[in-house]
Amino acid sequence: MALIVQKYGGTSVGNIDRIKNVANRVVRTAGQGNKVVVVVSAMSGETDKLIGLAGQLSAAPNEREMDMLLSSGERVTSALTAMAIEALGQKAKSFTGRQAGIITDTVHTKAKIERIAGDRMKQALEQGYVVVLAGFQGVTETEDVTTLGRGGSDLSAVAIASAVNADLCEIYTDVDGVYTTDPNIVPEARKLEKISYEEMLELASLGAKVLQTRSVEFAMKYKVPVVVRSSFNDNPGTLVVEEDKEMENVVVSGIAYDKNQAKITVVNVPDKPGIAAKLFRSIAEANIVVDMIVQNVSSDGKFADISFTVPKTDTRKALEVSEAIAKEMGAERVDRREDISKISVIGVGMRTHSGVASKMFQTLAANNINIVMISTSEIKVSCVIDLKYTELAVRVLHEVFGLAEAAH
Ligand code: ADP
Ligand code: ASP
Ligand code: MG
Repeated sequence: MALIVQKYGGTSVGNIDRIKNVANRVVRTAGQGNKVVVVVSAMSGETDKLIGLAGQLSAAPNEREMDMLLSSGERVTSALTAMAIEALGQKAKSFTGRQAGIITDTVHTKAKIERIAGDRMKQALEQGYVVVLAGFQGVTETEDVTTLGRGGSDLSAVAIASAVNADLCEIYTDVDGVYTTDPNIVPEARKLEKISYEEMLELASLGAKVLQTRSVEFAMKYKVPVVVRSSFNDNPGTLVVEEDKEMENVVVSGIAYDKNQAKITVVNVPDKPGIAAKLFRSIAEANIVVDMIVQNVSSDGKFADISFTVPKTDTRKALEVSEAIAKEMGAERVDRREDISKISVIGVGMRTHSGVASKMFQTLAANNINIVMISTSEIKVSCVIDLKYTELAVRVLHEVFGLAEAAH
């Protein structure tokens, strides 16, 4: 007998028939003698719909109220899923984040899980219930509802799997697993049988939304065994595992894209020590995660332009903070661009093989795609380009790195 966590994403619980399909799968797993914790997302489109409603009332809605609002989507599906399971004759009980004892910090809309009490869930499992947890949510020490960032039900699933010491955490979604790139953009993309936590972390943080970045971080840290598979068939899926020797032989294992980045540029800042420190301290204090940073100094060395990228959802806040600092430091102005995307080539094999960056730049150039910013790490190269070339760039890079036919 095993203890299995199964997370079902928005498309998988998108309507009543799909919820019934989920119930069937859960009951089948329980019928094989396993204890099951199910984590559900809101129905597809629901979270966006709620964000839209709030947007009609305010350009910057109160974040505490946002969390009250957004957590309702998952609450609906958790109750419906529990009902659907009971209709098949299997005992099931739904839990909100609060009832499950998921305690987070107080950073509304992107809270971090601090601990999971989980007593009621464990008790329900002991009593033979299937536990159905509303994903994406927790509660602060002072009982305010929080949410865990977009895609946060993945994190709920991995964290619960770790808390109850599950044998496996299955992430059910609308594709068969993790592919060399988004299979909805490149039909030739190849499903990976397995991927290392590290590569998955890069893929996710660089835009492949198949797993939320923080869920991968959590899985890597606590060694939670994760498999990504489809809720619409019984194909084997992709295992997320620790790196092995064989993986290093593959130089590039995936291409990711991220259309949710914005570029902020502080123009003509007097080039003095401490300027970047000041700017990025304020940005960090506003809980904004900065990704790429580029500084260009003018030819006379007196002024600098500092450009950086932030998630589009934080553009407003980042602009406000930058404008205040720019004024203080005597910079000329602050510009922003939202029509950009970031394309990344990822692979643990890059540690030992060279030439990936130059091949990437050449390929983009050959397709007349201008590079706006570049950043690299041990196992990835990323370029910011014009938004409109995203799909083209992904396709040509996927081809030039031979991802469709390479053996993994
Ligand atoms: P869910 O609602 O189940 O959480 P998401 O929409 O968050 O599902 O994530 C699944 C989607 O991720 C797929 O439909 C696919 O378009 C996208 N995706 C992007 N990159 C990849 C990749 N490398 N492998 C698989 N899917 C990817
Ligand atoms: N419903 C939330 C979202 O759309 C969380 C999730 O689906 O994982 O971001
Ligand atoms: Mg998701």
